[in-house]
Amino acid sequence: MRHTVARVDLDALRGNVRAIRGLLEEGALASGRRPPGIIGVVKANAYGHGAADVARVLEAEGVAMLACADVDEGVALRDAGIGAPILVFGALGISDLDGIFSHRLTPTISSPWAGRALAEAAAARDTVLGCHVKVDTGMNRLGLRHDNLRRTLPDILQAPALRVDALYTHFATADEPESEHFGVQQQHFWEAREAAAALGLRTTVAHAANSAALLRDERTWLDFVRPGLLLYGIVPPPLMTTLPLEPVLSLQSRIVAVKGVRDGEGIGYGQSHRADGPRTVAVVPAGYADGVDWRLGNRGVVLVRGRRVPIVGRVSMDMMSIDVTGLDVSPGDEVVLLGRQGDERIDVREVAATIGTIPWELLCRLGARIEREYGNLKFEI
Ligand SMILES: *Cc1c(COP(=O)(O)O)cnc(C)c1O
Repeated sequence: MRHTVARVDLDALRGNVRAIRGLLEEGALASGRRPPGIIGVVKANAYGHGAADVARVLEAEGVAMLACADVDEGVALRDAGIGAPILVFGALGISDLDGIFSHRLTPTISSPWAGRALAEAAAARDTVLGCHVKVDTGMNRLGLRHDNLRRTLPDILQAPALRVDALYTHFATADEPESEHFGVQQQHFWEAREAAAALGLRTTVAHAANSAALLRDERTWLDFVRPGLLLYGIVPPPLMTTLPLEPVLSLQSRIVAVKGVRDGEGIGYGQSHRADGPRTVAVVPAGYADGVDWRLGNRGVVLVRGRRVPIVGRVSMDMMSIDVTGLDVSPGDEVVLLGRQGDERIDVREVAATIGTIPWELLCRLGARIEREYGNLKFEI
């Protein structure tokens, strides 16, 4: 087994689902509505956590649906034994159509082409296909334009082999408290739902909220919410919450070498860091091939013996160096890249902020060669 391991705490995942559900139930109770169901977003290998294991927990927790990015991800979930309904967010290709039927996936119709292709494919199989229609309310990415439904929706609604089970949209700025666009999109979606009803859409089922919208605005909850990041215990920056969420993933490694460098010597590629005085440097076998971002060179920190220590020099493909001067460390000592050690903690929000990216990117880029260890970590010593 390699030294660098991602631990996936499935208990934390369970706790997060329950915390989110608690919030939804409380909010719904206060306003006398039914709490929305949860569509658990497990695209991109469940944000790097491992789609099958995460999906199994979410299914056992009774989420209404799972959602993935494309048909291949949905097929992989079914092959892993997942029985819950699976919504496919992404645009469809011709080669995807078989998988939708053979693996009972719920496709998104986000263009007139997709509507026609699915209607023909379902008719050819003599079946009626349940699908969700995505409305573009201002993200200007996928979806039928909110102000053009009169042109695009009737063909979909009239296709005998299609059954539209829900209308949904996606927000561009739910995580930007200052943005007015969030309200504009909500208004557009409201109007789109009315227009769809007038055009003959039978269902009123609708969903819109990603993690940020779910946290920020109950009016976006509708019939289902679609948290991704929040399930994994990370609050979309810059938002804050009092919900008891726990990061599901932690990343650990072990020191494999310790050595002294002399005053003025450079460390690593490009000799981008110079020792100011005699220093003790430890080598950690985690590099950018493992998902440790190259930009963390000379910027990031890790935890060793309960202390924050700096990454010195560039991150290499397979390893990096850290400055452990003054600490009593030896090969085999644990290094935490993400997670807790003693009283210290490094979370993915902090790391993302250090290098100017977003937590979503860091999580789902976690290297494929890293082993993921699943378990109940709370009771581990
Ligand atoms: C990824 C995604 C989500 C989840 O987003 P988070 O910000 O991680 O909660 C929800 N809806 C759609 C359509 C998505 O693509």
